[in-house]
Amino acid sequence: MVETENGGGLRLFLLDLLFPNRCPFCDGFINYKKLCCDECFGDIMWADDKICKVCGKLLYKSCTCGQNKNYDICVPAAYYKGKAREGVLSFKFHKGLNAAEVFGRVLRERLSDRGLLDEIDIAVPVPMEKKHQRKRGYNQAELLARVIVRDTEIPLRTDILTRTNVKRSQHTLGAEERHEAVKHQFSASEGVWLDGKTVLLTDDVITTGSTLDYCAGLLKGKGAHKVICAVCTTV
Ligand SMILES: [Zn+2]
Ligand SMILES: [Zn+2]
Repeated sequence: MVETENGGGLRLFLLDLLFPNRCPFCDGFINYKKLCCDECFGDIMWADDKICKVCGKLLYKSCTCGQNKNYDICVPAAYYKGKAREGVLSFKFHKGLNAAEVFGRVLRERLSDRGLLDEIDIAVPVPMEKKHQRKRGYNQAELLARVIVRDTEIPLRTDILTRTNVKRSQHTLGAEERHEAVKHQFSASEGVWLDGKTVLLTDDVITTGSTLDYCAGLLKGKGAHKVICAVCTTV
């Protein structure tokens, strides 16, 4: 069972006066020590054994294992439904920090239970466009990675992948166009070499998998041996 309290402390108590602590899943006010309500945590449709252990999509329905993706494994925390969906949408707001903490703790436990955490050499979040990140104040994929590797020796690297300006909203594109659009958004830094490393790649949601696929391809192009994705939710 994942701990849904953050230990409190004076800083959080004072912060709560300025930004009253809210549950990222129902938007209700919660004690400054909490990350979410216990009811919401219990209501979330956490990923179960109907999810493929390899690609992280629904077995017999949307499993992409036959499609030769660049990532090796994708581990989602929950289904992109109900409260978990609200949690992902909360990344637009301050309470999204709580959501990243909750999802990150769940993912860390799942990766650890499957022996995957021990394999990881380096953590790389799917980057956000710089302007977008400045506006939001954080990149949720980075927060997620930070929670997963906390108190481990695994370094978090935000200097490997870069995302550049996107002209059109991805949501208006079809699968093919979307894949094409993704290609022009991401790039890997020169002079980086990930020789034989196992990389943890984090993001908030997996839909078609094209973002993770493309980013994993860039990491493999830099010599990575294996890419393990961890995402808050799966569609
Ligand atoms: Zn709640
Ligand atoms: Zn699969």
